[in-house]
Amino acid sequence: MVQLKYNENFDSIIKEIPIWSEENIPQNILDFMEKKEKNMVIYEESQNTFYCENCLEPLENFICPKCHQVYPEILLENLNTTPDMIIKDKIENLEIINVFYVFEIYGSDVILYKIRKENRYSMPPYLSKTSKQSKIEIVSSYLVEKNSLTELKTSKVLSFETLVKEMKERTAEFNFEDISSYNARHFLYTENLLDLKNTIYKYSRIWELKEFYESERNISLYELTFFPLYYPSYEYLVNYKLYDLARKVPYLFCKGKNFQEIFGVEKKYLSFMQKINISPYEWKVMQICPMLDKEALKYFGAWCDVYCSYYDEWVRVYHMNLKELYDYLKREEVEYWLFPDYIDYLDMANTMRLDLKKKDVLYPKNFMEAHDKLYQEMEIMKDPEIDSKIKSLSNVLKLNYYEDEDYVIYPASSIEDLIKESQDQHNCVRTYGEKVASVDSEIYFMRKKSDLNHSFVTIEVIDKKVVQARCKYNEDPSEDIWKVIEKWEKNLIPVIKQK
Ligand SMILES: [Zn+2]
Repeated sequence: MVQLKYNENFDSIIKEIPIWSEENIPQNILDFMEKKEKNMVIYEESQNTFYCENCLEPLENFICPKCHQVYPEILLENLNTTPDMIIKDKIENLEIINVFYVFEIYGSDVILYKIRKENRYSMPPYLSKTSKQSKIEIVSSYLVEKNSLTELKTSKVLSFETLVKEMKERTAEFNFEDISSYNARHFLYTENLLDLKNTIYKYSRIWELKEFYESERNISLYELTFFPLYYPSYEYLVNYKLYDLARKVPYLFCKGKNFQEIFGVEKKYLSFMQKINISPYEWKVMQICPMLDKEALKYFGAWCDVYCSYYDEWVRVYHMNLKELYDYLKREEVEYWLFPDYIDYLDMANTMRLDLKKKDVLYPKNFMEAHDKLYQEMEIMKDPEIDSKIKSLSNVLKLNYYEDEDYVIYPASSIEDLIKESQDQHNCVRTYGEKVASVDSEIYFMRKKSDLNHSFVTIEVIDKKVVQARCKYNEDPSEDIWKVIEKWEKNLIPVIKQK
């Protein structure tokens, strides 16, 4: 029990709180810790092998041959997204760290323990002799109060106001998601959560997250103390059963008069958001492009940190629908780790000034092929040698310059020329750079004299013969235009190919 006591000078009353030491952690807590740290698959990357956490035996068809524990099957491509797994380079001298948070409630006083357990496995040559050594340490014990945490061993006070200030100084919005150390799992003892009802936690309703926390293994100190006690929006989010938003980012929901203003999406999406327990990143994607597809939100959410501004631009500028994009990527089997290739593709398409408002540019058939093709075009475009060859050749090709009352015909004189022609005409002449530079084909532009700045007909010549003449969208020129072209063709001077 908490005792009240005078301080050394007998001028004020201090609280005397008996705190746990490593030796007197209650048995039910020790049992809970042991239970939680079983049932994980350990994956050894270098050997591509899965092991039972309990016995460190290699699994056979995801069953431990020693303790017969059955594990869910894990596909290699899901390695990084499987929660019940620990990935290690090598499992020799394996060390697994678990952190456990435990609330201890004394009347209306609340103490939160942070207990660290380190399991060290050593592996002699025979796997069956694997031995496990555990070390338990109480990292901290906090007296939790309305506005602060006091570390009882050191008497250090951490005020929530200070945390708010620190938070404002950081730029990343969602930085609290990664607050727990990356290598350790962080669990919460949930059996006594309901007892928090009679404490400073009464308005937070954190006990409603009991079920949720039973399967959670990445819990932070702030989400158990600072967030529920400091932000009124925490209770509001818990009320809406938006638990993941409550525990990770309640500070983003402090402004706005109604649902739409607070959440940035219409209220009709609420039941969906509840159903999938929407995560902060999924919610962010939802705001940019509302949709009822958890997989799609997860896909884009996973890249939100890096590409959020892209999504925003696509939707705003190109009127792209992210759900449509997701269905496309799925069809084309662009798995989420390949998504940067798609970004890359759009960046290249942008540089090549393809029309990103067109669906067949946004969603090309055979995505990887389209990607690679564009990449090669870019390589050629960036090649200064090819550009200078086209320039010097155009001086020779100028001998074929044509002019009458209405039209002019002249050669392309740079890669930039080809790209611009492609963009105006919606054809693929931009890909001809290499051919033009090596004199495998000659490209000429025909213009109306009344409209010299705009493309009219793109002409390809090989060995003094017109092989293609195309207007916008690859349409055939009219008969009159063909007559002019044929007349010009008769007088063409050949360019001698240099070896
Ligand atoms: Zn086992």
